[in-house]
Amino acid sequence: MKLGIRYKLIVVQGLGLAFFILLAALSYYSITSYSSIHNRDIDLAYRMELVADLQLLFERSLMPPNDYLITGDIKEREHFAEIVLDMAKLFEKVMSEENRPEEEVRIGNELRKEIIDHEKMAMLLLSISDPVGNEGSAKLMKGLDANGTLLVKKAEKLHELIRLELEEHSNNVSRIGDRITKLFAVVFFIFLGGMIYLIFMVRRSVSRPLDELTNAASIIAQGDLDYRVDIKTGDEIESLGNEFNTMAKSLKEKSTETREYVNKLERSNYLLDQNILRLYTLYNVSKTLATTVEAEKLLEHIVTEVQQSLKIHRITVMLVDKEHDIITIAAGVGLSSEARAATFRLQDGLYGWAAMTGESSIVTDPSGDPKFVPTEGLDDDASSIIVAPFKSRGKVIGILTAYKLREEPFDRQSFEMLTTIATQLALTIDNARLFEETINLAITDGMTSLYNYRHFKECIADEFTRSKRYKRALSLIMVDVDHFKKFNDTYGHQTGDDVLRGVAKILKQSVRSSDIVARYGGEEFVILLPETGKSDAFILAERVRNGIESADLSVDTSSSFDGVTVSLGVSAIEEGTEDFKELIKKADSALYQAKENGRNRVN
Ligand code: GH3
Ligand code: MG
Ligand code: MG
Repeated sequence: MKLGIRYKLIVVQGLGLAFFILLAALSYYSITSYSSIHNRDIDLAYRMELVADLQLLFERSLMPPNDYLITGDIKEREHFAEIVLDMAKLFEKVMSEENRPEEEVRIGNELRKEIIDHEKMAMLLLSISDPVGNEGSAKLMKGLDANGTLLVKKAEKLHELIRLELEEHSNNVSRIGDRITKLFAVVFFIFLGGMIYLIFMVRRSVSRPLDELTNAASIIAQGDLDYRVDIKTGDEIESLGNEFNTMAKSLKEKSTETREYVNKLERSNYLLDQNILRLYTLYNVSKTLATTVEAEKLLEHIVTEVQQSLKIHRITVMLVDKEHDIITIAAGVGLSSEARAATFRLQDGLYGWAAMTGESSIVTDPSGDPKFVPTEGLDDDASSIIVAPFKSRGKVIGILTAYKLREEPFDRQSFEMLTTIATQLALTIDNARLFEETINLAITDGMTSLYNYRHFKECIADEFTRSKRYKRALSLIMVDVDHFKKFNDTYGHQTGDDVLRGVAKILKQSVRSSDIVARYGGEEFVILLPETGKSDAFILAERVRNGIESADLSVDTSSSFDGVTVSLGVSAIEEGTEDFKELIKKADSALYQAKENGRNRVN
């Protein structure tokens, strides 16, 4: 039977009350029993005393007749009468007790009769006027004595009967006492059993489930939301347990929802971060595009930026030269130097295919792609490759490639990011090429393709400062075509131009790449020689002079011209040379001197 806690408490209270009533009833019963027993004891003892007194009176009753026989004193009659009165009173007291045992009543009745006889006999004796020495009186006395002895014996018997009754009563008392003790013991054990049962019941249906609930609450509080209680007490605690389980379940659901939400949030945060990173990369790339004009530097900048921002293992910018059927790596990060020098043909491999079709792709399993031809140090160990060709005026001019080695393959965002950058690259390379051309135009002499006078002025200013600062040698050779006015006049201006181009070519071929050759103006040229002393400059000047003299620059061999010659003036930086204009002035003077000295010579 399942009871609620309220009913359980009522049962406990009821049991307590019942026990109390039982104990009270038992106590009342014991007290009343004891008091009635006690009264009866007193009563019986009193009666035994009365019987003993009666016995004494019986014995004393013999004394007056006996004395009367000896003395004849009539006062003994009064004396006897007093004793008889006492005896009668005492006897009636003894006999007044109701509910006496039958035997006692019988003996009492006999005694009454015999007392009357005894009295009669005594009165007879006491009525004899001359008792002393009277034989009849003596005889009567004898009878009276015998009667007295009988009375005493009967009284003794009665005394014995009362004593037996007292004894039996005492036995009864101890039996009742035993019974009460047993009753108390039974009640005590029932109470003890009841208490133990109650404690057990309270433990099982209240304490233990409450402990379980407390324990469960602490487990849930520690984060184990799967924990549930199993309480089957059928009362309010079971309802509490069920509520607890429902609460834990909804807590679990809420926690799962929250976790999912947090995961989603983390994921979108991650994507947001990625997008910010990509935007930042794009921004940096655009910034580089805006500030860097030299194509090579620009490409290196871009690949480094993209590689670092997107944490890509390797990245390259390949340039496509369709005319020569070759794809070269113009810039790259994370490549071996061998791989950096690799070239590809337009018909071959992934890059050739991309150059031909112009289509971007992610290759997630390169070794499984039939087009893939591995290149050591570039893509042979790649697990995922992005190939993003870019176009200028409808033609593929380059390919942006990116490689991942072991991590998860490129995602869609990275792919889109790299194709966007590739589009930017196309524009950039176009612009850079245009810019380079413009720059070249600005510093180049259109006819001879040598540097122009303005660029020479910039160069000589820079080199002069550098030489002065680092105390390095610097020489200058000024070259002027001999009798060129005449040449022009003879062959025409156009032929003159051709000769000037021929001279320029020889000049360019005669010097190192670090030397600067420029058209100074008209048919005058300059050669600036960094790290070169005056004597070496003379040697070079002589070589140039000789080169031009021996070159077949004239168009008409039948003319009066033996050939085109030049005069050269050499100057070099010396102690006390204040600025580059001095260097030019000295070279110019030397040249003038060479002309003066007969031309086709070095001075
Ligand atoms: P020299 O230097 O030996 O003293 O005699 P020169 O005839 O060369 O004397 P000058 O320096 O006075 O003459 C330079 C001539 O070079 C004048 C001009 O006709 C010619 N000249 C200058 N620039 C050009 C050019 O761009 N093309 C051609 N064809 N001729 C030029
Ligand atoms: Mg001249
Ligand atoms: Mg000249």
